[in-house]
Amino acid sequence: MNIILLGPPGAGKGTQAAKLVEERDMIQLSTGDMLRAAKTSGTEMGKKVAAIMDAGELVTDEIVIGLIREKLQGEKKGGFIFDGFPRTLPQADALGQLLAEQGETLDAVIEMQVNDEVLVGRIVGRAEEARKAGQPARADDNEESLKIRLMEYYKKTSPLIGYYWAKGDLKTVDGLASIDEVSEQIANILG
Ligand code: AMP
Repeated sequence: MNIILLGPPGAGKGTQAAKLVEERDMIQLSTGDMLRAAKTSGTEMGKKVAAIMDAGELVTDEIVIGLIREKLQGEKKGGFIFDGFPRTLPQADALGQLLAEQGETLDAVIEMQVNDEVLVGRIVGRAEEARKAGQPARADDNEESLKIRLMEYYKKTSPLIGYYWAKGDLKTVDGLASIDEVSEQIANILG
């Protein structure tokens, strides 16, 4: 089973993906995590994307499609959870093609619905928690980058909701419910 978790930054995609990894032996493919790893290890690609990510803008489709292509060729376990990918229509088209090449299907696109005020609160809270724990906060978890990340979401990613609805793949969960309630809603969709 291969699924997409779709929603703005702070909707809880990463949290739910981690639970699915544990409960269903699925593989989480987070392009954000892959890009942060490249940034930290200082690869050429990491250096190229660092400033773009810190600003809250999207990196090129070519880079993230390349990352996903590589992972789809690896082990599949209980299936893939796409977390933070696709984020643009060309990425969505590319994912469809890559899956088809692997003889795989997309089984559900789960939209995590939230509202903007709650999002901003969650993300600012995430930065605050990191600070208290003496850990470095994500470089893009600040108000300036957040505004840009939200704008990128509405301009470039939210059209995917209509795209997958038209394909008949879209399912919606209430991202404002508790973590366990959201998991339950997802479990009901996945069966
Ligand atoms: P995330 O952890 O998913 O919030 O991603 C953090 C940052 O990585 C984003 O703000 C973008 O700069 C970049 N990024 C992650 N996934 C993508 C993607 N699919 N397309 C373009 N940029 C991405």
